[in-house]
Amino acid sequence: MANAEVSGAHASDAQFNDVSYQRFLGEEKLMGCRCRACGTLSVPPRPLCTHCYATDLEWIEYTGRGRLAAFTCIRIIPPTMQVWGYDRQHPYCSGVVELEEGGRVVAIIDDVDPTHPEDIHIGMPLTVRYRHLGEGDSKQTLLAFVPTP
Ligand SMILES: [Zn+2]
Repeated sequence: MANAEVSGAHASDAQFNDVSYQRFLGEEKLMGCRCRACGTLSVPPRPLCTHCYATDLEWIEYTGRGRLAAFTCIRIIPPTMQVWGYDRQHPYCSGVVELEEGGRVVAIIDDVDPTHPEDIHIGMPLTVRYRHLGEGDSKQTLLAFVPTP
């Protein structure tokens, strides 16, 4: 999986936590970590391996391609999601995406109709989409995936 390696100093200096993860999302990079001891992947990255608790980790950059592994359609919108334009009339689909390189990440599934979950299929191919809101220190990035054309 040589194409998943990250060699930039930028990545290797970053700590394995949500702050780094969010900053990379802002740069339109989907980054996770791989345990050098057992190979377990984590997205978002965690400071220790979720499988063997080792702390010898390395960054990997995902291509942003995957498949839908599970989903749910959400009508009661949490406050953190209301800023993205969702409300009772505008529900959203939250999914678990099985990434091409391995590992699973939770993300919004865009360009599907949450009012017709029967049209959303487990296994459908997906491609990453980064959604940005605000500027400067208040900038937020939401990880989303859309059906691959
Ligand atoms: Zn491990």
